[in-house]
Amino acid sequence: MNYLQNYRDLKRARGVTLRSRFRHLLLDVLAHQSRSSLDERFDTPRVQFIYIHHVFRDEEESLRTLLTKLSEKHTFISHTDAWTKVLSGKIDKPYMSFSSDDGFLNNRRAAAIFNEFNASACFFICPSMIGVKDPNVISRFCKDKLHIPPVEFMDWDDIHHLQRDGHEIGSHTLSHVNIADTAISALDEEIGTAFTTIKERCGEGQHFAFPYGRHVHFNAAARECIFRFGHTSCSSAERGCHLSNDHPIGANDLLIRRDHVVLDWPIEHNLYFLARNAADKRFQQSHFRD
Ligand SMILES: [Zn+2]
Repeated sequence: MNYLQNYRDLKRARGVTLRSRFRHLLLDVLAHQSRSSLDERFDTPRVQFIYIHHVFRDEEESLRTLLTKLSEKHTFISHTDAWTKVLSGKIDKPYMSFSSDDGFLNNRRAAAIFNEFNASACFFICPSMIGVKDPNVISRFCKDKLHIPPVEFMDWDDIHHLQRDGHEIGSHTLSHVNIADTAISALDEEIGTAFTTIKERCGEGQHFAFPYGRHVHFNAAARECIFRFGHTSCSSAERGCHLSNDHPIGANDLLIRRDHVVLDWPIEHNLYFLARNAADKRFQQSHFRD
């Protein structure tokens, strides 16, 4: 099996559309226009969560470049510390926290680079895929759930290695389901079994991030199930950041917002999005949507 090793091969598999070319050009213009306000926006005291999925071979330097740039204005903190700070309502300076979804083997490469910057990340994994080596199972999962060519997954030794380096492990459901389409009777399995497995294997697992990540991929039944099993935090893929708040929010009411970064994108584009989302009031609502 030829597993995906470089992001350029993923792009080749997807093809370049007219829409993606236009989007790239538009972002060039927007990033250029907002260059002068970047530092000011990054000075905003806040907690901003960034998440990735992969660091392929040809993305390694981009992660270093991004972390170098962000370290100029931000203190890097772990997912747990970031969550604690948001709950306290007291945020005295700019903080960034990192996570990665899906549990690809190349997350080991991500972790090694985070280590260079003394940054602790949270890795959200689907326990049903950890240690799976059968190429047919991997191909089907990547195609059906992630819509990409086959990528290798970590095994439990890899996960323990991440923990030894000071990173955290969280749940991304047992098998990467769209929760909004999952029967209530299956939620205990997808959320509960994943929680128990991670707890037994890793001795931790308080954090949860739901697959696909937008409001439409979530519902009240899942929220109830997540906290009932013992998770204490729930992360989305809704963009935005968290500011100081005179009325601290309860853990079960907090929906963590995270900004998605694709390392292959030009750094100017990623910085533009992060700075824009740091300042935009529309992206600062921290409660679950009713
Ligand atoms: Zn995912």
